Amino acid sequence: MKISLVDLKAQYKNIKKEIDYAIQSVIDKTDFIMGEEVVNFENSFTQFIGSKYAFGVSSGTDALHLALCALNVTHDDEVILPSFTFTATAEVVVWRGAKPVFVDIDEKTYNIDPVKIEKVVTKKTKGIIPVHLFGQPADMNAISKIAMKHKLWVLEDCAQAHGAQIKMNQWKTVGSIGDISCFSFYPGKNIGAYGDAGMLVTNDSQLAQKVGLLRNHGRKEKYTHLIVGYGNRLDTIQAAILSVKLKYLKDWNIKRVKIAGLYDYYLGKNKNWILPLVVTWAKSVFHLYPIRVKNRDKLREFLKTKGIETGVHYPIPLHLQPAYRFLGYKNGSLPVCENIAKEILSLPIYPELQENQIEYIVKCIKDFFS
Ligand SMILES: *Cc1c(COP(=O)(O)O)cnc(C)c1O
Repeated sequence: MKISLVDLKAQYKNIKKEIDYAIQSVIDKTDFIMGEEVVNFENSFTQFIGSKYAFGVSSGTDALHLALCALNVTHDDEVILPSFTFTATAEVVVWRGAKPVFVDIDEKTYNIDPVKIEKVVTKKTKGIIPVHLFGQPADMNAISKIAMKHKLWVLEDCAQAHGAQIKMNQWKTVGSIGDISCFSFYPGKNIGAYGDAGMLVTNDSQLAQKVGLLRNHGRKEKYTHLIVGYGNRLDTIQAAILSVKLKYLKDWNIKRVKIAGLYDYYLGKNKNWILPLVVTWAKSVFHLYPIRVKNRDKLREFLKTKGIETGVHYPIPLHLQPAYRFLGYKNGSLPVCENIAKEILSLPIYPELQENQIEYIVKCIKDFFS
C-alpha cells in the first residue's frame, strides 16, 4: 500500500467536471484579472466565515503582509506570535521593519500560550498574531481579553483552519473574531487553489477599505492611485476553482474530523504516543493529525519503508531558525515548543483517506513499537 500525506489527485478526480468547467469558463471570457468570479468567491467566503468583508489576494503570506500594512505596523513596533508556526507568520513582521516577539505554546494544544503573552507585552507591542495551528483554534477568549486590556490589535492566522469554530459568547468561526484575519489557499490546505492564493477577512470597514486598495496598486479607478499599493490580487481562475471547492469544504472538514476520530480509536491510549487533544470549547478542522512520539525520526523511516508518507510540522521552531538568529533567542528560550518539535509527527490526513488505510497505518505504527 502507498499512502501519501495528502492526495490532491483523489480530490480532483471527484470534482473534475466542475473544476474543468470553471477553469474553461474563465478562459472563454478571458476575464483573468479581478473578474466576476473573484467577487463571487469573496461573497461566498464572507458567508462561510460570518464576516462582513473579504478580499482575495495572491497568497496567505501576502494576506498576512497586507494585514500588517493596513494595521500600520512599522519600524520598531513589536508583534507577538507563536514560535511554533510556518515562517510566513513571522516573515511579514520583519518585512515591515518590526520585531517578531516569539511566545511559547501550550503543551497540550500546540497553540500560543495566552499566559505567556502578557509577560512579553511592552510599550512597543502593537498586536498579537495567534495561529490556529493544525486546524485547532487558539484560545481566542483569553487572547482577546489580553488584547483589549493592552489596546492591541489581533490578526488571526487562519491558514490551517478554514471553518474551525470556537465557543466565545456564542460559537464563532475562526477569522470572524480578531480585527483582521488571513487565510491561505495553498494547494494542500483544507481548501486549496491550483497555485498560490489567499484571503483577507475583516468586520472593520476602515481596514477593509485599506486592504481593498493595497492589494490592487492603491487603485480607486483604473488610472487613479490613492496610495502606494501592491500587485497582490487573486487570479480569476483561482477564484473560480475555489468557488467550486467552497461548496465541499464543510463536508471535507467533517470527513477530516471522522478520520481523526478513527485514528484516535485505532491508536488508543498508549505510553508510546500522545494523541492530539480535542478541547471542549473548540471544533478543530484537522488540517493535520499530529501525534507525539519518542523515536520520531526512526518511526518516520520505518513508515516510509511501509509506503506511508508522514510530515513534521515543525522540526525547528522559528526562534531557533537561522533566519531569526538576529533576534537573539537561544536553545532553551522556549522549551515547550523545542521539546515538541523533536517528537511531533503528522500522519496522513485528507478527506478521501479510507478506513482500511488508517487501519494499515496504525498497524505499522504498532508493529514499530512492538
Ligand atoms: C500556509 C501557511 C501560511 C502561508 O500561506 P501561503 O499561501 O503558503 O503563502 C501562513 N501561515 C501558516 C500557519 C500556514 O500554514
